[in-house]
Amino acid sequence: MKAKNIGVEVKKPKEDCKDRLCPFHGFTKLRGRTFVGDVISTKMQKTATVQFERRRDIPKYERYEKRKTRIKAHNPDCIGAKDGDIVKIMETKPISKTKNFVVIEKIGQVKGFKGRMEALEEGKVKEVEKEEKVEEKTEAKEEVEK
Ligand SMILES: [Zn+2]
Repeated sequence: MKAKNIGVEVKKPKEDCKDRLCPFHGFTKLRGRTFVGDVISTKMQKTATVQFERRRDIPKYERYEKRKTRIKAHNPDCIGAKDGDIVKIMETKPISKTKNFVVIEKIGQVKGFKGRMEALEEGKVKEVEKEEKVEEKTEAKEEVEK
C-alpha cells in the first residue's frame, strides 16, 4: 500500500506496513502538537518513549529551569524507531491509556547515545539519573492538573 499523505511535511517511510494505527498505512489521523525528541526506550511493543527538554521560565527569579518531558508515542512498523534516534512525533486521538502521539519521522541519531546509556547502566552517572526521576514525577503531576 502506498503511504498516505498525512498532512504534515515529512519524509514518507519507504517501507510498507500493515499497522492499523500507522498514520501512513492505517487509520490514525493526526492533529495537535508536534515535538522533536530523542528515543530513550523501545522496550514496549510498538511504542517509543521520546524525551525532550524544554525551558520553563520563572519570572519571579528572572531565570529558567530545564525540564525534561517524556512522551510515549506509537512507533509504526514502517518507521521502526530505535533507541537513540531523533524523531518527530505528532499528537493524535488517544491510541491507548498512555499513548496519544505517533512517531511520524526519523530525523537523525543522538551523538554518543550508546556511550551515555552504557555509562548510566554502569552507575557512573547515578546522580544524573536520580535527578531525572524527580523531574519525571513533577511532570506527571502537571499532566493530571491540566
Ligand atoms: Zn506504516
